[in-house]
Amino acid sequence: MFENLTDRLEGVFKKLRGHGRLTEENIQEAMGEVRKALLEADVNFGVVKEFIAAVADKAIGREVLTSLSPGQQVVKIVHDELVALLGSQAEPLKLDGRQPVTIMLAGLQGSGKTTTAAKLARLLKEKGRAPLLVPADVYRPAAIEQLQVLGGQVGVPVFASTAEQKPVEIARQAFTAASTGPYDTVIFDTAGRLHVDDELMVELREISQAVPLSEILFVADAMTGQDAVTVAEKFNADLEITGVILTKMEGDARGGAALSVKKVTGKPIKFVGVGESVDALEVFHPDRTASRILG
Ligand code: GDP
Repeated sequence: MFENLTDRLEGVFKKLRGHGRLTEENIQEAMGEVRKALLEADVNFGVVKEFIAAVADKAIGREVLTSLSPGQQVVKIVHDELVALLGSQAEPLKLDGRQPVTIMLAGLQGSGKTTTAAKLARLLKEKGRAPLLVPADVYRPAAIEQLQVLGGQVGVPVFASTAEQKPVEIARQAFTAASTGPYDTVIFDTAGRLHVDDELMVELREISQAVPLSEILFVADAMTGQDAVTVAEKFNADLEITGVILTKMEGDARGGAALSVKKVTGKPIKFVGVGESVDALEVFHPDRTASRILG
């Protein structure tokens, strides 16, 4: 995770620490290198521009130039700006208020929705909640069965949808079943397409109008970098998402999606998928992630 970026930044900061004193020129040069490293990591161009301006402004404007360990101070400023970029603090799921809580996962095909639904159910069950998994992907062959298998693995009941039903019908029925049954959390796994398409958005909007949704989480493959961010923007414009889950983070050496998506959409990353197994889902912590990036 972030290995390429970490290596690049380490080199930049090593050079900075080598100077006893820093001139404005030293800082500008380092900022140029940080900028390159972020762009190579596939961070959104506008995000990089703002980030560099903010860091340079603080580094040059403040006590850094006269401080005893100026290199260290610049690293601290970069760290704090990274935390802000990643969302400042962990954003928990909305689990209070009206019950059952309803969470819809949406995203492109192959992004990891079905797997993430089961991972999330497992995590919530561990916290003492009573989830119900609801397969609402009636197009992909075997999607319903896939969720049934995963539900079995994590010991969470799976609503008995069939591929003949309309997704909105499934959502209504499952919500009623959860409201009158022993469940306090409903997780809807929805269909994806290879690309954003209107029909899919209409279907997802129908679900969001038919049942009161507590969360609409956009699921994206972190390895797809800026494409993931562009798709997140589209889903947010059409559906007003409440958060993001980035999957396959363990294999993403660059980190462009993670570093851009909050700033671009205004919606926080709530979880990250870090492997194929059902326990490989972590709550996303901006501060820990920033520290990890800086090595
Ligand atoms: P969906 O089409 O969005 O429902 O995607 P799936 O849940 O079927 O996932 C597609 C593939 O991505 C599957 O092979 C999953 O095992 C894999 N996958 C999902 N999340 C992760 C993750 O965090 N890390 C890795 N390595 N693979 C993942």
